[in-house]
Amino acid sequence: MTQSSTDQVTALFKDCQALLQGHFQLTSGKHSEWYFEKIRLIERPRALDRIVDLLIERIKADGREFDYVVSPAYGAIAIGFLAALKLGKKFAFTQRVEDKMAFRSGWSEVDGSRAVIVEDILTTGGSVQEVVASLKEKSVSIQGIYVLVDRTAGAVLIEGKPVGSLLALKVEAFEPESCPLCRAGVPLVKPGASDKK
Ligand SMILES: [Zn+2]
Repeated sequence: MTQSSTDQVTALFKDCQALLQGHFQLTSGKHSEWYFEKIRLIERPRALDRIVDLLIERIKADGREFDYVVSPAYGAIAIGFLAALKLGKKFAFTQRVEDKMAFRSGWSEVDGSRAVIVEDILTTGGSVQEVVASLKEKSVSIQGIYVLVDRTAGAVLIEGKPVGSLLALKVEAFEPESCPLCRAGVPLVKPGASDKK
């Protein structure tokens, strides 16, 4: 991504208040200057539409052939669906069935197809790994993995490679006792939504 498109993405995230700057307590208990509120993304379809336009440019630039865009339920469904619509591809989603990420039985056409994975935010890579596993069970050839935001800035590898992202932002998290924002007396905010992934 060029600097200007990174700036454009950052501005879009800030505009829809999906990216907040301040002093936040994450669910891990650590403190951070940045917080992603991904609900804001799907709450504002028009803003998401512009973000997904940038995402599909990123996907098209890789030039891979695929049949499906696949996303994990629930937050990423709107993102993956919109990407599939714009790319003229089919869409499918995985969901937890008895604690295991899987396709429900109705998705029979996914078997043996080619797919790209689209996720909202990569934090630990856990849910993307689970989607990869469920696609492999269906003998799907994975042609790419894309996220809107890579909070690890490329540090987490999936299938040995960094994922494609619109925004790669290393979010530093501090133990409360060594938090510079606490020291500076910035009021602490505890967001209500889960930050875990
Ligand atoms: Zn703090």
